[in-house]
Amino acid sequence: MFRKVHLYLTVLCAGITTAILIVMSLLYLYLSEKELYENQFRSFQNDINTIATSLEQQSVISMEWLSKMEARGGYAFYALDNGIPFLYNRLTSMSGSSEIRRLLDDCLEIYQNDYAYSYMLETDAANGSPYNTCVHSEFPFNPTGKKHEYHVSVIELNRGTSSLQLLVLSPLDFLREQIARQRIRFLLIDCAAILLLSLFSFFFTGKLLKPVIESRKKQTEFVAAASHELRTPLAVILSAAECCRDADVEKQTRFLDTIRQEGDILTNLVNDMLTLSASDSQRFSCHPAPVELDTLVINTYEAFEPLAAEKKLSLTITLPEESLPNCTADADRIVQLLSILLHNALSYTPEGGSIGLALSHKKNRFYLVVSDTGIGISPEDKKKIFDRFYRAEKSRSAKGHFGLGLSVAAEIVKLHHGSISVADRPGGGSVFTVMLP
Ligand code: ADP
Repeated sequence: MFRKVHLYLTVLCAGITTAILIVMSLLYLYLSEKELYENQFRSFQNDINTIATSLEQQSVISMEWLSKMEARGGYAFYALDNGIPFLYNRLTSMSGSSEIRRLLDDCLEIYQNDYAYSYMLETDAANGSPYNTCVHSEFPFNPTGKKHEYHVSVIELNRGTSSLQLLVLSPLDFLREQIARQRIRFLLIDCAAILLLSLFSFFFTGKLLKPVIESRKKQTEFVAAASHELRTPLAVILSAAECCRDADVEKQTRFLDTIRQEGDILTNLVNDMLTLSASDSQRFSCHPAPVELDTLVINTYEAFEPLAAEKKLSLTITLPEESLPNCTADADRIVQLLSILLHNALSYTPEGGSIGLALSHKKNRFYLVVSDTGIGISPEDKKKIFDRFYRAEKSRSAKGHFGLGLSVAAEIVKLHHGSISVADRPGGGSVFTVMLP
């Protein structure tokens, strides 16, 4: 399922970034090509201005000069002297070819239709006569309908009754090549970028999904472990209830006691599970208020003393001699935390052992310490005992212990922005230290 979601997110992320990249590239190409074309047209117009000015100043137009100008700009000139072709260069010599002839005719036709008339009007309005003038006009010319084929200029030089028409054809092959090269370069860059973006999206979405996958895995493990733990007490309750039916009164009382005991165990387990579930969904209630921690520790000590005595364990309490400031904490949660630690100490300390409960205060921090002379915890187990449902192998037999106590303790400490740690007690046993800010 997550593999599918991962792929879907990768495609979505890569698709969106690719679409943005393509749109931006196309926009850039459009603007850049437009600018290239406009620059080219402007430079062509400048050249034509220079040519027209020179033409105007020359009394006799030499073929040598025309050839030189033609070669310099990479242009093709076609000259008509009083409407008669002026044979001097390759274009005019090729003009016999029907294709070139048609091209030139088309050019002149466009000029006559779209530009010549307006010039006549302009020159008429300015001078009252079109004579002794040099006018020129530039326009794009795309005979095959493709984009950017030629820039054309028609220069008309009128001197009295004689007129010279110079058609300047500027092929735009190099501009088209430049544009094509730029497009190919962009295509390659975009392909590489799309590949990199896809890889990035794959790893990025993988990273995003990791916590979700982990949380899902933990949830599944939690449900599996919870079902497993619920099975044993339920089986005992069911078999005790079954036996109860045919048993005599004395035995019935024993079976009912068992059912009651297992029911209590189940209640504790379900309570712990509900606490952890509330903590996971941020519903774990905590009502911090100023608390006298020493009073709270004494009360807990007094509650556990009879239990310790019953198990033939000595329970001692150590409190600081000076009076302590109040600690801002949820009193009920702190009692719950101490109960978990003391319950564990009582469960994992053999008869005759001793358990210590201590409170100290240093640098604005409170330290609650529960130590015992019990079985101790191996270094590997120390890393895992705060995990849900984790129980060290040797203690699996402990009844009513499901490996949730320390997880709940850790959640309570987290809620108070404190810390909890475990260490070996010199001489054997364990020491649990809770720090509350
Ligand atoms: P449980 O309800 O099983 O005690 P906890 O989460 O409280 O669950 O503890 C997890 C495991 O840590 C226990 O199963 C036990 O193996 C180990 N442990 C906890 N406290 C002690 C202790 N005081 N001494 C030795 N082992 C302990």
